[in-house]
Amino acid sequence: MTSLHDLLFSDLENILVADGLRPIHAQSLWRAIHRQSASNLADHPTFLPPLARWVKSELLPGNRFFLEAPLTITDTASSDGFTRKLLLQLADGQTVETVLMAYVGRSTACVSTQVGCAMGCVFCATGQMGFKRHLRSAEIVAQVLKVEHILRSQNSTSLRNLVLMGMGEPLHNYDAVLKALEILTDHRGIGLTPSRITISTVGVVPGILRLAEDPHPYNLAVSLHSADPQERANLVPASRRWPLPDLINACQTYATRTKRRIFFEWTLIAGVNDSPKHAEAVATLLSGLPAHVNLIPLNPTNGFTGSATATPAAREFQRVLHQAKLPSTIRQRRGIDVAAGCGQLRTLHEKIPLPQSKASASPNLLSNPPLPSR
Ligand code: SF4
Repeated sequence: MTSLHDLLFSDLENILVADGLRPIHAQSLWRAIHRQSASNLADHPTFLPPLARWVKSELLPGNRFFLEAPLTITDTASSDGFTRKLLLQLADGQTVETVLMAYVGRSTACVSTQVGCAMGCVFCATGQMGFKRHLRSAEIVAQVLKVEHILRSQNSTSLRNLVLMGMGEPLHNYDAVLKALEILTDHRGIGLTPSRITISTVGVVPGILRLAEDPHPYNLAVSLHSADPQERANLVPASRRWPLPDLINACQTYATRTKRRIFFEWTLIAGVNDSPKHAEAVATLLSGLPAHVNLIPLNPTNGFTGSATATPAAREFQRVLHQAKLPSTIRQRRGIDVAAGCGQLRTLHEKIPLPQSKASASPNLLSNPPLPSR
């Protein structure tokens, strides 16, 4: 069985035409799936009779196609009112996290690309749980549609930004991720703007080099955390496979080919990587690259004993970067009370039995609380 959310528009059109329908039916079905986030296509009011008949026969249980419908297990709003975190159950019972950050006139979805993660970053709850499996394109698309549905039900403006910084390493699941983005940027559907999409990586060099050749202007964010190879390997074990010099060379190639600035993520861990010397080292490492550094005080997790850098030390770090003419931003730790660091919510719920999984389960079985007032 194939998920309809896994299909590009051209795939869907080819299938329908091969089944004797017309291209206009593909447009109508695509709109229902991607613009209206329809969870039930039977008796859809805009479908012409041939399409309605096709849907009724092809989407029967056990037939060729199904509709991706992740079940909302928990939906929690942070006390600051800006962050809403969903734990979604997929068709095989696995769970992933999706986050919506909603500000006035600006909203961002953060989605997962894998169940668990193989990269093993020591301070990350997802890294601590290990790798379970890759997500299919449809499962990435469905997370975004879920968030868009929430925004629409709140009469908010539609989704503006997308970051692939949830559970998993996006460039370790390259083909499914890039296909999902092609579906999500299709103007006949949700139509996200490619330049408002950020792909985050821990430094998977072959993936960065492939992305450098991609025609879409997606943004790249590289999790750096240290400019010293040994220290970085202690925090990010995957860097033993793709050492710092190779990573910086790949970033140079990416920047030259795409003419785009690269974001570097730096988790600030007290007494580990937050001294002025660390700041000088990263400024030296990134000199010559069009770079912007995001400084993020550590989100505490049970499996890591480190603590977040205090604000004065974070400001001093930033001052050193500024002096070296390296632009940076100190990011606030939004939604920490809803376990907004990736993997934390799934870890919290791992011991709680989840409902029976069904690919066709209604996404509205559990009610969604309203977005808190801003
Ligand atoms: S920080 Fe990202 S790449 Fe590292 S373990 Fe966590 S999810 Fe994986």
